[in-house]
Amino acid sequence: MMCWAIPCGKNLTTDGNYKMTETTNQLPREEVELKKHWNVEWKFFRKRKKLKTGLLVMGVLLLVNLLWPTSIQNPVEGCGKESYNPKSFWHPWGDHEHRGIDIFARKGTPVHPAIGGVVIKAGHSGGLGGNCVVVFSSGMRFHYYAHLDEVKTHIGAIVTQKSTIGTVGNTGNAAGKPSHLHYSISSFIPQGDWRFYPKWMICFINPIKELEK
Ligand SMILES: [Zn+2]
Repeated sequence: MMCWAIPCGKNLTTDGNYKMTETTNQLPREEVELKKHWNVEWKFFRKRKKLKTGLLVMGVLLLVNLLWPTSIQNPVEGCGKESYNPKSFWHPWGDHEHRGIDIFARKGTPVHPAIGGVVIKAGHSGGLGGNCVVVFSSGMRFHYYAHLDEVKTHIGAIVTQKSTIGTVGNTGNAAGKPSHLHYSISSFIPQGDWRFYPKWMICFINPIKELEK
């Protein structure tokens, strides 16, 4: 049988180690070098091919996500226009603007996603929002549901408009205030009636305009 590797013969040395010796059926040095070169080239080509395929798949997913409908429903069960102040988006609030809307409802009222997507955050935020859920949806949008009494979903869950992700409450900085859902939509891509929030380099989209489309 032909030996393709050089050197492929082995001898024991006096100290018990193997000593490599060259054999007669080895390939000429140039051929070995060429083979090595083509192996490296081939690996590089395969890596580039994988990278190209990966980028193409990501591009297609991004396009589908952007073109998919973004219409939303009021996330609080049984609530309509009367449940929020139509001027509550971006009104001055403390040292910054109110970046969403507050939908007032009785504590424990089920909260359903305004639009389906993937849950990327679920639990206590440790901040102003208290118990909160973030759902990533079409249009590269992040939907934030805060002050929840209970969180009823988990990170990675695929949710639809029929799923229950939590219940209305007054956790976080809403403690002691009437129970309500703070709901906001944000995206890195400007769309709809948007305001830029430089602190996070993100755009907040007016949920009222989206609800009343
Ligand atoms: Zn709010």
